[in-house]
Amino acid sequence: MTEEESFEFVKNTLKEERITPYHKDEIETVHSVEECINCGLCINHCPVVAAVGVDRFTGPRSIAVELSRSPPEFWSSADKVYLCTGCGTCREVCPKNVNVPEVVNLVRARIFEHRPDLVPKGLHVVRETIVEHDLAFEPWEDPEEKVESRDVRLEHLGLPYVEDIVKKDAEVLFYPGCQAEERAQEIREAAKVVFSHFKVDYTLLDEMNCCGLPSVLMGDDKTSKRMAALLREKIEFLGVKKVVTTCAGCTSNISDISIRDEWNIPVYHMVEYLAEEVGLDKLNQALGSSNEFSDVTVTVHDPCHLIRHTSRRTMQDAIDILKVINGVKVVISEAEDSCCGGGGLVAYHSKDVADAVVQENLEAIDKTGAHRLVAPCPLCTAQIEANLFKSGSSVEVDDLMVFIAQRLPRK
Ligand code: SF4
Ligand code: SF4
Repeated sequence: MTEEESFEFVKNTLKEERITPYHKDEIETVHSVEECINCGLCINHCPVVAAVGVDRFTGPRSIAVELSRSPPEFWSSADKVYLCTGCGTCREVCPKNVNVPEVVNLVRARIFEHRPDLVPKGLHVVRETIVEHDLAFEPWEDPEEKVESRDVRLEHLGLPYVEDIVKKDAEVLFYPGCQAEERAQEIREAAKVVFSHFKVDYTLLDEMNCCGLPSVLMGDDKTSKRMAALLREKIEFLGVKKVVTTCAGCTSNISDISIRDEWNIPVYHMVEYLAEEVGLDKLNQALGSSNEFSDVTVTVHDPCHLIRHTSRRTMQDAIDILKVINGVKVVISEAEDSCCGGGGLVAYHSKDVADAVVQENLEAIDKTGAHRLVAPCPLCTAQIEANLFKSGSSVEVDDLMVFIAQRLPRK
C-alpha cells in the first residue's frame, strides 16, 4: 500500500466517527506542536492577546494545544481560531519553531469541512463571492463606473493612465491582487506607471482571478486549490518568467504555491523587484533629482505577510528605495512591524478585534512626527488609513507604489 493509499484507507475507516487523520502535508505542523515547552513567549508577543486580552482570545499556545485533542473536538476552538490574524509573530518568537499560523489554517480547514455552521457568516459571504466571481471582492456591476472611479482616483493623485497590456511571452506577469483590481485601483495603475517608466516587459492577466489566500485562511481547501490551478493555467498560457505583485498577502501565498506545486517560477513583491531587478542606481537616477513635491517625512508599515511569511529583506528594500527619493526623510515607528489587524479575515466577522489590534500602530505612527505613512500592501494601507482617520490623526497614508509613481518624472 502506498502512503497515499494508507491515508485514504484510514480516512475511510474513521469516516463514520467523523475523524479525519492528518495528511502527510500536515504532519510537520502537527509535530511542531509536540515541541512546545510552554514557555509562554508566544502569548506575550501575540498582538491579538495584547489588544483584547486572554478572556477574548486565549492565544497561540492554546490554539496549538488544540492539535493534541482528538480531531472531533476541534469544533470547540471555533470561537478562538477565527480571531487569529495570522501575523506569524508567535512563530517568529517561538524557541521551538511551533507553527501556530499553520495550525490555525489546519483547524479552520477541518471546521470548514465538517462543521461549516461554525464558520463565521462573514467568511461564507467572501466564499460565495470567490466561488461566483473567482475574485475576493464583488466586481463592479457597471464596467463604465469602474473606469470612472479609476480616472477620478488617478486625477486626484496626479497619475497618468497607462493602457493595460496583455500579451504572451512577457518577462513579468504583474498580478495586482483582488483588492487593487476591484477596489484600490490606484495601486494597480501606479504599478503600471512604474513598470512603463523602467521599460519592464510585463503583461497583466487577461482575466484576474484570486490567488486563493482568502480561501486558505477560511479553510476552503477545494476553492484555494482551484484558484491556484486557474492561475497556473493562465501563467503557463502566457509563458511569463516571473510573477510580480503589489500585495503582501498575494506575494506570500503565490510564493508558497509556486514552491508547493513546483511552478519553477520566482515570485516577487514589487518592492523586491525594483530593488533587485531594476536596481537602486536606476531608481536614484529617476527619483533622486528635484520634483514638484515638497519635502516630506515618511514612516513605513511592514506587512506581516512580507516580513514574517516572505522575507524581512523586502522592507529593507522599501526603505532603501524611499531614501533615494528626493526630499524624502524616513523615520521608523516603534510599531513598524506590528500587525495592523487586517489579516486572517478577522475584520470580516470581528471588526472590533481587528481595529483593537491596529491601535498600537496608530499611537506609534503619531509619535514619529511623520507627515505620511507608506505601506506596500493594499490591505494594510486600507486598515491603517481608516483607523488613523477615525482617530483624528493628521498623518496621511499612501500605498508605496502610488508614492513612488507620483514622484517619477513625467516624459
Ligand atoms: S513560544 Fe513556542 S514553545 Fe513557547 S509556549 Fe508558545 S508555542 Fe510553546
Ligand atoms: S499568528 Fe499572530 S495573531 Fe495568530 S496566534 Fe500567532 S501571534 Fe497571535
